[in-house]
Amino acid sequence: MPEPTNIKVVVRVRPYNRREQEQNQRCIIKVMDSSSLLFDPDEEDDEFFFQGAKQQYRDISKRTNKKLSMEYDRVYDTERTNEDIFAECTAPLVDAVLDGYNCSVFVYGATGAGKTFTMLGSENCPGITFLTMRDLFEKIQMQQDTRKFDVGVSYLEVYNEQVMNLLTKTGPLKLREDSNGVVVSGLVLTPIYSAEELLRMLTLGNSNRTQHPTDANAESSRSHAIFQVHIRITDRTTGTKRSVKLSMIDLAGSERAASTKGMGMRFKEGASINKSLLALGNCINKLADGLKHIPYRDSNLTRILKDSLGGNCRTLMVANVSMSSITYEDTYNTLKYASRAKKI
Ligand code: ADP
Ligand code: MG
Repeated sequence: MPEPTNIKVVVRVRPYNRREQEQNQRCIIKVMDSSSLLFDPDEEDDEFFFQGAKQQYRDISKRTNKKLSMEYDRVYDTERTNEDIFAECTAPLVDAVLDGYNCSVFVYGATGAGKTFTMLGSENCPGITFLTMRDLFEKIQMQQDTRKFDVGVSYLEVYNEQVMNLLTKTGPLKLREDSNGVVVSGLVLTPIYSAEELLRMLTLGNSNRTQHPTDANAESSRSHAIFQVHIRITDRTTGTKRSVKLSMIDLAGSERAASTKGMGMRFKEGASINKSLLALGNCINKLADGLKHIPYRDSNLTRILKDSLGGNCRTLMVANVSMSSITYEDTYNTLKYASRAKKI
């Protein structure tokens, strides 16, 4: 039996966008069942899931199909919704948070792969942040008689290693270490009483991201958005207090960090690589390997999340991919990254 891990890794495949639909392309992911997929399947399989027009062109360097069978904790095909991911992945984290475990949720993937859709969703299809927070407030409500909860949130952006407060549009904020961990100087938590209120806040914060996140080539693809819920729980009979945190992070686009040429090479440093994304990958790899020394200090993202990764913390990584051959490299790199993070 492999050791139980506190890192859960799931893959979400998004539907084709218009550009992908209009181009000659093929489907490079075949979802096999709820926890496995075949990357770059054989062409004879294509007719089953090849969308529309016959393929005219294929890059010769990609002629040999990799036919990689990959396993994750869960694989979500294009039919699955934000609700499904919430119900299976983040609702259990709400229970863990209320039991006192810090939890973190990351959405990882290339720009355009569906990270923000998963996290924030759209107007009629709320993302997992809202669904998770609504669940949190419902569960808190049910426990009001025995415990008192103080909930405050923060929404930060790490862009070029600078930390900004997305709710107040202030910064750059300094990080400093104290006995309890890393503190964001000058950060005031915003108290919050309902999930609806939170949704307004998220929308506001999101519009303050370095550029609008749905614009594919915008600078926002290089920024990390860190939403954190800080909860102070007071036991009404004993008066005991404890603090716990849930973090949900919409990561920068992984396209610049990924350069996994050859097995064994994890993250190759390059001039334009996002430092925080690289550091996160290194920390998660080391945690997955069970190593003691975790290089949290290497970036501001990992410093902020130091108390929410490893140890007793629960971590969920949602790796977002497109199944179109147009994004072959990005998808391949994301799947590899996700496999590495899982590493059981
Ligand atoms: P990212 O944040 O990773 O750059 P987005 O979440 O902005 O990517 O997604 C890119 C586009 O694809 C958006 O227009 C988004 O609405 C759409 N999209 C992403 N995932 C899905 C999905 N599962 N179902 C429907 N549309 C999606
Ligand atoms: Mg985005």
